[in-house]
Amino acid sequence: MNNHQFLQFLQSGKILVSDGAMGTELQKRGMPVGVCPEEFNISHPEIVQGIYKDYYDAGSDLVTTNTFGANRSRLAMHGFENRVREFCVKSVELALAVCPDKSGKFVAGSMGPTGDLIEPLGPRTAREVYDIFSEQAEALAEGGADALFIETMMAAEEAEIAVRAAKEKTNLPVAATMTFEFGKAGLRTMWGVDVKTAVSRLTDAGVDIIGSNCGRGFDEMIAIVRELRPLTVKPIIAQSNAGIPDWVDGISVYTETPEIIEPKAQEILDLGVNIIGGCCGTGPAHIRTMRRLVDKKQSL
Ligand SMILES: [Zn+2]
Repeated sequence: MNNHQFLQFLQSGKILVSDGAMGTELQKRGMPVGVCPEEFNISHPEIVQGIYKDYYDAGSDLVTTNTFGANRSRLAMHGFENRVREFCVKSVELALAVCPDKSGKFVAGSMGPTGDLIEPLGPRTAREVYDIFSEQAEALAEGGADALFIETMMAAEEAEIAVRAAKEKTNLPVAATMTFEFGKAGLRTMWGVDVKTAVSRLTDAGVDIIGSNCGRGFDEMIAIVRELRPLTVKPIIAQSNAGIPDWVDGISVYTETPEIIEPKAQEILDLGVNIIGGCCGTGPAHIRTMRRLVDKKQSL
C-alpha cells in the first residue's frame, strides 16, 4: 500500500494493530546472542520472513522491519558498516513479499538509535548523526517501506535529528517513539527527557506520529499514554514490552502473557491510541489478543 494511505487510515479514525517484538522472536527461533540481527535478513531470510508472516497472520496491520540496528554506527560493531543499504532493502522486500495484498496492510521501516552520544556528551557530531539516519531512511524508502518508525529513542536531540533526516530524505510518514520509565521525577527517558518535552521537540522536528515503545511493561505504558494523549492531536502509538524479563538459564523470559495484557491493552485503547502493538517479549499471541480488542472496539 502506498504511504499516503497509511496516514489516511489513521486520519479516518481507524486504529491500526502493529506487530510484536523482532529481537526476542529471532532469539526464540535460534538466533544466537551477540550476532548481528540485521545480518539475518541476508543469511536467514526465511526466519525473518516467517516472523513477519506470523504477525500478519495474527492480525497485524503493519509489521516493522528487522532493521532496528541497521545504521552505519551500530553495524560497525560487527564490521558491517558498508551493508546498510543491502540489509535495509532486503528486510523491506522480505516483508512486502508476505504483506497481505489488501488495503490497510503496511510495512514500516524500523530505525533505532545509533548507540553513540552526540557532542559534547559523546563522539558524534550532529551532522554525522544526520548522515547516518539519512542513509538508513533512504535505503528503507528504496526497499519500498510505507512509513518509517524511529524507535526506542532516549535522547531528544538524537530523536529530533532522526525525524528530520527521515522527513527530509524521503516522502514517507514518520513515527517516533521514545522509551520512558517511572522515576522520582515522574516519567523520563534514560537521558531525562519527559513526555511533554518529547512531544514538543518531536513535533517541531516534523514528526507525523508520536508515541512510546519498550520500557517496563503495560502498566507503565498506560501511564505514559495517559500523560501523552492530551499533549498532542497527532496520532499516537504505544508498543509496550511484556513486562520486565526474568533471567532463566541465561535467557530472558517476559512475564506479561496475552491473558495478563488483555485488560491493560483495552485500557490503552480506551485512552485513545491510534496504533497499538508490542515490543520486547511480545509475540504473535499478544498481537492476536490486541487484534480481537481492536475489532471489538471498532465494531461498537
Ligand atoms: Zn523493547
